[in-house]
Amino acid sequence: MTGIGTNGVSGTGASVTLSSLEKTYDRANAAKAVDGVSLDIRSGEFLTMLGPSGSGKTTTLMMIAGFETPTAGDIAIDGKSVVAMPPYRRNIGMVFQNYALFPHLTVEENVGFPLKQRGVPKAERAKLVAEALELVHLPGYGARYPRQLSGGQQQRVAVARAVVFKPRLLLMDEPLGALDKQLRENLQLEMRRLHADLGITFIYVTHDQEEALTMSDRIAVMNDGKVAQVGSPEDLYDRPDNRFVAGFIGESNFLPAVVRGVENDMVVAEYEGTLIRALCPGKTASGQTVMLTTRPERLRFADGTWTGSEGQHNRLRVTVTEAVFAGERCRYMLQAGNGTSIVLKEPSSAAIRRRAVGERAEIAWSVADTILV
Ligand code: ADP
Repeated sequence: MTGIGTNGVSGTGASVTLSSLEKTYDRANAAKAVDGVSLDIRSGEFLTMLGPSGSGKTTTLMMIAGFETPTAGDIAIDGKSVVAMPPYRRNIGMVFQNYALFPHLTVEENVGFPLKQRGVPKAERAKLVAEALELVHLPGYGARYPRQLSGGQQQRVAVARAVVFKPRLLLMDEPLGALDKQLRENLQLEMRRLHADLGITFIYVTHDQEEALTMSDRIAVMNDGKVAQVGSPEDLYDRPDNRFVAGFIGESNFLPAVVRGVENDMVVAEYEGTLIRALCPGKTASGQTVMLTTRPERLRFADGTWTGSEGQHNRLRVTVTEAVFAGERCRYMLQAGNGTSIVLKEPSSAAIRRRAVGERAEIAWSVADTILV
């Protein structure tokens, strides 16, 4: 049997190499929509470009697809430059936010459209369309028109249409953006399953960090036309390279400090008279002003019964300024030193004493969870 799906006949995914890619739309104002993006996307990988609106995600995707021409740099698919190749010859599947189904064609005709364009004979077409509809869990929907489907179903049809011709690369631009939260979450898991079933390369664009963390093998965080960091979801969350990534993915606390000593990959920095140890993958020197960051759920109140091993934890005196019970967690706003605000999130438990506003406390957190950015 030939076909898409778990049998793996669709083959492996394409690799995509972006080299110093640039795009300037308006030469008069010269602002770069994409500003020197270099990225190696591996064969069969689920790579997400994540970033705020206007950071250059869509422009990058459109250049890979061939709908926009780079101002500078190169795009190679499986090692061959495609910059001079028209979109239809790149053989890439695409899914957009606004489904873009033909309203006057049935589901079957919509999904079969790319095959018809490629001159695939009718009988083969019917078989491939049926397989694609099965893959997106819509068998038996072939005779319906798009208006007879829900938003989620329409998007599944768009996905079926994008993979029916067995591309080795699928590009998706905010495909779940128009759907409600519950449906989005279901479809996020389906996208992962689809990726595993097809074994092809996915490049996915979103501004939603949770979506990116849930689905991706790796995430390229975009800011201002540049890649701020690329790594696995865990890498980005636990070891952000810079302040933008630390702030954009999840919630972060920031403490301005001055480096007092450097030992191997660890720094000792002073914040308002308190010495704090942090991991530091890059170079720093004594006297340098730095920013230390840590996650709210990695902090804990250190007074009472808690004892942490000395040397492996940082400690800081704070005042509670806000205490919010939020079901599974309690969220505290704390103030340290000269007024730096710190967020602490604690799992709620009847066994843990709640802190009151105005209370003085000591907090502690692991050195391993303290990153210099
Ligand atoms: P994102 O997908 O991250 O929201 P875009 O790639 O759409 O970012 O946009 C990056 C920048 O390029 C923005 O400043 C945007 O206004 C600009 N831009 C995007 N498309 C065009 C266009 N067709 N003409 C002119 N400027 C554009």
